[in-house]
Amino acid sequence: DALANKIAAGEVVERPASVVKELIENSIDAHSSWIRVEVEEAGLQKIKVTDNGDGMPEADAEKAFLRHATSKIKHETDLFRVNTLGFRGEALASIAAVSRLTVKTSQGDGAATYLSIEGGVVTDRSKSDARQGTEIVVADLFFNTPARLKYMKTIHTELGHITDLLNRLALSHPKIRFEAIHNGKPLFTTAGTGDLLQVVSQVYGMNVARKMIPVKHDTLDFSIEGYIAKPEVTRASRNYISTMINGRYIKSQQLSQAIMRGYHTLLPVGRSPIVVLAIDMDPVLVDVNVHPTKLEVRFSKDRELFSAIEETIRAAFRNTSL
Ligand code: ADP
Ligand code: MG
Repeated sequence: DALANKIAAGEVVERPASVVKELIENSIDAHSSWIRVEVEEAGLQKIKVTDNGDGMPEADAEKAFLRHATSKIKHETDLFRVNTLGFRGEALASIAAVSRLTVKTSQGDGAATYLSIEGGVVTDRSKSDARQGTEIVVADLFFNTPARLKYMKTIHTELGHITDLLNRLALSHPKIRFEAIHNGKPLFTTAGTGDLLQVVSQVYGMNVARKMIPVKHDTLDFSIEGYIAKPEVTRASRNYISTMINGRYIKSQQLSQAIMRGYHTLLPVGRSPIVVLAIDMDPVLVDVNVHPTKLEVRFSKDRELFSAIEETIRAAFRNTSL
């Protein structure tokens, strides 16, 4: 029902950046090699994500956008008991519940499904033909949840969350070509060649890419690989530390702190480094399900991991003339 979807929506869809994240992660899951993201007014007006992925058959498309969370939440009071249950499989339905959304999707068999949904209610459906892939347009986010809309910060802040997210998604998927556009102006385009340093250059600029040192270190449990900037290029914010665990970007205070400790006294007080690290480990060592948005993780061998990272960075600086 509409209530359940609105509640689920509040959990998954915190701000425009959450919509961008869910849509792009779906495009990645659908094996896209090209993803175009166009946002207007920091996503509050429009978010459009186009991909060349698998596409959806008609029946699945309807289900994906209209599935109800009634089996999980029956009454509003139950909301307080579902902290860690998660709303997996509910992202699109949640987004559709709080926006005016259209989707066009095709599996490349000549038939495309078109759906228009307003506040979770289908207002139009038709068939057409289209190339393989999916295009989702989310307009007027939170138009029917004024309380949520009130919580939105300035365009500047919301756009900051989106670019931060886009940067990290591009950095964690060097083989995917990303095109990111805001208010008609390109933010960045990546080549999709698989070359991580090239993505660093496209996202952060050539001057940053030139100051990056490659790191690579394998322990019994972890494989750590990526680029760390020389301490001469620093940032005021920690948003330039990107960490990927098994191909999925995550934010972890503890990981960031381990990276900062690796820089030791090389880092000026109050400054953060620019780092891109892909960490691979046996999936049993990591729990990514502690939060429905899957941003936070727990590690079974956390102390070993943090000291491996710290030591990897220290060693890199020992071996490089700064
Ligand atoms: P989840 O990703 O957890 O399954 P979502 O609500 O995000 O839940 O998506 C529901 C389903 O819709 C996905 O499992 C997938 O089958 C389908 N889907 C969503 N976006 C796309 C896309 N861009 N291309 C192909 N299929 C998609
Ligand atoms: Mg999803």
